[in-house]
Amino acid sequence: MPAASRFAPMILSALLAAGLAGAQTPDNPLLKPSPLPLQYPQFDKLRDDDFAPALDRGMAEQLAEIQAIADNPAAPTFNNTIVAWEKSGRLLNRTTTLLFNLLGTDANPARQKLQTDYAAKLAAQRDAVLLNPKLFARIEVLYAARDKAAPNAEGKRLIERYRREMVRAGAQLNDEQKTRMKAINAELATLTASFNKAVLAEVNDSAVVVDSADELAGLTPAQIAAAADNAKKRGLEGKYAIALLNTTIQPFETDLQNRALRERLHKASIARGARGNAFDTRATLSRVVALREERAALLGYATPAAFVLEDETAKSADAVNAMLRQLAPAAVASAKQEAAELQKLIDSEQAAKGEPSFALQAWDWSYYADKLRSAKYGFDESQLKPYLEITSVLERGVFFAAQQLYGITFKRRTDLPVYRDDVWTYDVFDTNGKQLAIFIADMYARPSKRGGAWMNSYVSQNPLEGTQPVVANHLNIPKPAAGEPTLLTWDEVNTMFHEFGHALHYMFNKGRYPSLARVPRDFVEYPSQVNEVWADWPSVLANYAKHYQTGAPMPRELLDKVARAKRFNQGYMTVSYLSAAIVDQRLHQLPAGQAPSAEDIVGFEAKVLKEEGIDFGPVPPRYRLPYFSHIMGGYSAGYYAYIWSEVLDADTVEWLKAHGGLKRANGDALRNKLLSRGGSEDAMVLFRNLVGHGPDIKPLLERRGLVVQKP
Ligand SMILES: [Zn+2]
Repeated sequence: MPAASRFAPMILSALLAAGLAGAQTPDNPLLKPSPLPLQYPQFDKLRDDDFAPALDRGMAEQLAEIQAIADNPAAPTFNNTIVAWEKSGRLLNRTTTLLFNLLGTDANPARQKLQTDYAAKLAAQRDAVLLNPKLFARIEVLYAARDKAAPNAEGKRLIERYRREMVRAGAQLNDEQKTRMKAINAELATLTASFNKAVLAEVNDSAVVVDSADELAGLTPAQIAAAADNAKKRGLEGKYAIALLNTTIQPFETDLQNRALRERLHKASIARGARGNAFDTRATLSRVVALREERAALLGYATPAAFVLEDETAKSADAVNAMLRQLAPAAVASAKQEAAELQKLIDSEQAAKGEPSFALQAWDWSYYADKLRSAKYGFDESQLKPYLEITSVLERGVFFAAQQLYGITFKRRTDLPVYRDDVWTYDVFDTNGKQLAIFIADMYARPSKRGGAWMNSYVSQNPLEGTQPVVANHLNIPKPAAGEPTLLTWDEVNTMFHEFGHALHYMFNKGRYPSLARVPRDFVEYPSQVNEVWADWPSVLANYAKHYQTGAPMPRELLDKVARAKRFNQGYMTVSYLSAAIVDQRLHQLPAGQAPSAEDIVGFEAKVLKEEGIDFGPVPPRYRLPYFSHIMGGYSAGYYAYIWSEVLDADTVEWLKAHGGLKRANGDALRNKLLSRGGSEDAMVLFRNLVGHGPDIKPLLERRGLVVQKP
């Protein structure tokens, strides 16, 4: 996924001029742009105490800037209104970017307290700008005359975007409605912060502890050592703790031979957020949905989904439903076929052991799927891993593909400060040898990091300020015990290519105006998914997949097996994803007053899965509602975006293959027609310009081995 902050409103302004009194801390590194290369953050000089004064001052500064624009006696012009707005709020943007990035990657109680303390203030800040009537009046003048007022097509698009953003925030509401809108936004901001905090606390609290290493049979010695280490850190010396990730399925469900422990692990995972403890998120979620319904109704939309989707390439809930419902039956049919094969394997294994068989359960799926893949295709994950060493994958795989395609180059640097010593930094150079960006690779899981994988930026490409990107990728790769190599799963390799696709999109942006860097959410996953194609591209794979001890290349036959196994388990993967996407849609397609209560959240999910014909016990949703962080942040009514983008992705991969694959000409086309364009043009126009036709779903269906029945 991309960074939530990428979609956060670019524009925040100040509410309170108070708070300035305590802000005179001359050594606060946040108050000035960093003197480091490309304004790379001074992580070494930054103290958590520096944030509050910088936030207060940043809010006050921007409030003054926005008020000056609104009060300008001169008639509104593009420069005195739009460009001035684009340039406002530098300190606040710098500070919130840093704070929210660190909350995602390295949260601590001080930072979490800041998040809680400032959530409502920052929401109010945004409202103070977007609901400013004098500012809106100026935007309306420019909007009415936009063909003449804008200096170029991008400028016209920017006027339209600002107006749309204000209207969608409620600029056309009456005063009473605006007051209610502000109250809703403040409450939503606070609830979102507390949901995210609870999810992180709950995932740590739900670690599964076992007494003896025997129970961990199936894990490697390094994984067992890491579990022992984990337990020690929790004050449970001599025991073993399996840390959880935020997804429903836990990686160790693939490896653990002990069925009872797999079940325990799985049940601990899916119980999260609904255990009635301090980290229970159900009441928060219920309230969030109710507030979103009320906000949508205030703005004249039937449901929260209608409000969200209008601004996406999908445009309507009907379009999204049609797409999801077209795929769901085919995916379930595939998953049921896969389940039947797994059941056969279980039956025959149990018979061979002289033990009674059992029905396949959710906690058996990964374990037997791995065995089945091994039987069918002659390999399993553990054979691949020695060839997938983390730095080799990154530098000789991900970077190598980008170099071949775009001509950009990378150089590791070790002189820049980092917030954790397992974070790496690289200079990125453009084709002309000049610096393009700094790339931060933060690959390891840690208890202070939220789940999943995402891209963030610390500094953006901004011609108005002359800044260049500082961009980061964050993954959650379990850290091996000290001295052990980090060997990746195939899934992690793909994730690394995926997230770097977001980074490329961000680094290549060439727009004149920073606000136009944003693209619709259901489009943003498209370039990142396209970048995954290079993970098993033969020349790329041959370059990075080398045995970590011997340096021997991954054997040809293993490569071929990987390629042949590509569609393996796709029914499972698709159902697990689609069920979460459908639940997200249905939850946000309820009209005002229909939000499920806290007690009904879990039941609502079950009811929806049943109604949509996607309730297949052995394949639970990738995220269950109480820990579905995506829908709390930027992906509410937006989790469908991945498969929506994948239609464009699969179609584009066909185009790439037809045009010779990994070569500079294709990279130049991708960069010039898509990656450098940000949101400066309609997203679907960019797609058409690149591949020469509108989106076609067939390549996606073929890729996933799905057959869609004719209605
Ligand atoms: Zn993504």
